[in-house]
Formats: sequence, C-alpha cells, structure tokens
Amino acid sequence: MTELTELQKYEFRRSLEEVNKLSGRGTELISLYIPPTRQISDVASYLRNEYSQSSNIKSASTRKNVQAAISSILSRLKNFKRPPENGLVFFVGHRSVGADQTNMVQFVLEPPDPVQTLTYRCDSSFYLVPLQEMLEKKDRYALIVIDRSEATVGMLNGKRIVSLKNLQSLVPSKHGRGGQSARRFERVIEVAAHEYYKKFADIVNEAFLGEKDLKGVLVGGPGPTKEYFVKSEYLHHELQQKIIETFDVGYTDEYGLKELVEKARGTLRSLDLMREKDLVQRLLEEIRKPDGGLAVYGEEQVNNALLIGAVDTLIISEDLRKKKITLSCPSCGTSKELFVADTPDEVMCDKCHSPMKVTDTVDLVEELHKMADANSSTVQFISGESEEGELLLKAFGGVAGILRFRVN
Ligand code: ZN
Repeated sequence: MTELTELQKYEFRRSLEEVNKLSGRGTELISLYIPPTRQISDVASYLRNEYSQSSNIKSASTRKNVQAAISSILSRLKNFKRPPENGLVFFVGHRSVGADQTNMVQFVLEPPDPVQTLTYRCDSSFYLVPLQEMLEKKDRYALIVIDRSEATVGMLNGKRIVSLKNLQSLVPSKHGRGGQSARRFERVIEVAAHEYYKKFADIVNEAFLGEKDLKGVLVGGPGPTKEYFVKSEYLHHELQQKIIETFDVGYTDEYGLKELVEKARGTLRSLDLMREKDLVQRLLEEIRKPDGGLAVYGEEQVNNALLIGAVDTLIISEDLRKKKITLSCPSCGTSKELFVADTPDEVMCDKCHSPMKVTDTVDLVEELHKMADANSSTVQFISGESEEGELLLKAFGGVAGILRFRVN
C-alpha cells in the first residue's frame, strides 16, 4: 500500500470539504463505510434491513429519499465481488439545492487507509470523521517495551499501533538459588540476559533500519531494564540516536505498546509543534536581516520565486484557501494573475479599462505545491495550532519560503 503524498492528501482534504458543504433537507444523507474484510452480500443484507426499517420514517419525502439512496447503493454494490484493498465509502443522498428542490448526489470512494468498521449513518450531513482521521499526519515511530522477562516491538503509524514481535526471555529468575553455586549461577543469568537483549535489538534493527521516515524511537517498561537497554546501546547506532525518551509503563506486551503511546502523547505533540516553531523562527530570522535575507512571503512573491526555482523550502499554512486566477483582456491582449479567496465579478484591464475575461482558475496551494515539486523544493505544511502557525497565516498571507539564493 502506498502512502498518499502531501499534495494528494491536500487534494483529498479539499474534496472532503466540498462533500462537507452538502446538506439534506431532512435526515436523508447516507454515509456507508465498508471494511475490506466484509463480504458484499453481508453489507447488502444489512442495507436491505435498513431499507425496511426506513418504512417507519414519518415524513413521506424523507422516506422516499432515504429509500432511493439505499437502493442506489445496493445497485452500485452489484459491481463489486469483494471490497477493494482498503474497503469502500459511499456518500449518497438528496442534497438540498434551495427552494424545496433537491437533487441526488453519489460519491463512491476508495479510502487511503483500510476502513476499520462497518459504519452506516443517515443524517442531514455526510459523516466524514473516519476519512478525515486517515488524512492526519502519519508520523512513524518505533515502539519498544521491555523488562527482563519479555519484550515487544511495535510501530506507531499516525494513530495506528501495530504490534510487530514479542520475545519471551529465557533468563532464569534470580530468586530461589543459594549456597555455593549462587555466584556461578549469577554469571549464567547475566550471560543469558545479554543474549536476550542482543536478540531483541536484532529484531528491532531488522524492523526499522533503513526506514527513512522514522521520526523516533520510544522506549517503555515497568522497571530499570528499559534504561539499562538504552544505556548499553544494544540498538544499531542509527536507531540509538533516534531514541526520544523512556517512559514508565506497566506492561511489556501488546497492551504495553498502547500504554507507551498514551504516555508519550504530550511529548510527540510538542515535537511536532517544535518543528513548526523552528521553521517559522528560521523564516523570521531571515526576514529580520537588514537585506531581507533568504526569505520570501506573500502569494505573489512566493509564486515568482518558485517560477525561477529559487525556493528551497516552501511553507504553507494548512488553513490557506485561495485561488490563482488568470485573466486576459479581449481588447488589448494584456493578461494578469490574481490571488483571491473568491473570483471577483468583474476585473478591469489596467491598460485600456475594458472588462477582462477569466481564462484559468486553479487552487493556489495545489499550484504552488506543483511548482515546488518541479523544482525539488521541500514543502512544509504548518498547522494553525501554534502561535507561529497563526503568525504565518495572519502576517504573511499563509505562504512563505526560504530561498536558495536571493531574488529581487
Ligand atoms: Zn486591455
């Protein structure tokens, strides 16, 4: 399964925003999430049951619309022998288009991640939460929980925790032996423990070495073993460097992985905000330089810098919603570009003052992102959650760049 690129995610997010705007007159919009593991025939009989339930709906028009939507999904389902790799999502219903008018809309989507549970919703708007969650940042972390008797390695991928391997140690307990052989026995124990740590480290190395997008390693466990394991540097040095912190957790099995993520939540959140802060701070430092430094901001300036390949890092606010429209003058042939939230009703030509014609409209973020890709510039999206993110949107129009070289 391939991950969506930032640009694809952005496009997906924008289409969800469009779906989100649709509303029904009554509770008659149907959202259906089908997991890849469900049999189509199961889903069909579930829907037929909903269909007969819907005969209890009091409003005749709502009842009619709900039943039409269910029938439409049922007939679409016939095209599938089984759900696709990640399952299926349906949004079907009569949306209101004013003055008591409705028309039927149907969206069938293959989601970017597997649908987890069969979900059926009938409401006055479409239910988008599971899809929105799939689009959230998917940073990967290695998870380790360990004590002397057991260790488990897993992966945090966005919000999903995957347990990869559990290792039971064969290290004998220290208790219950005394007398003459006690000393020798202790050495045996230490050798066994060392072998166990080494074996577990090999498993972790194999799972994560060469994983380029790994953001960090989190380590947990109930006792001092986790610190010992970290201090003794059992892991490959590349992974060793990525260890973020150790956390006290009660378990060393799959449940321990969940507990570890829970405990690390605050740390991870601040790491993410830290990245955004650092980036905007770097931008501000450049701007503060007397010669303007290597900074550029504002849609037009950034657009121009991208055109000549001068942008090293493009910084875009996640909340930026603008269009780039191209206009041309039918009388004198002049053309120009505008960056706007909404297309204006009329734009006059600067030269001859005749009304201009819109020849092209593109989404600004998509456009800038594509230009950046063409020049191998790095693109960083910044949330509005940090003070710096807010500053980017309010003071710099939501788009800025750090330059490879200065432009005038
Ligand atoms: Zn003109």
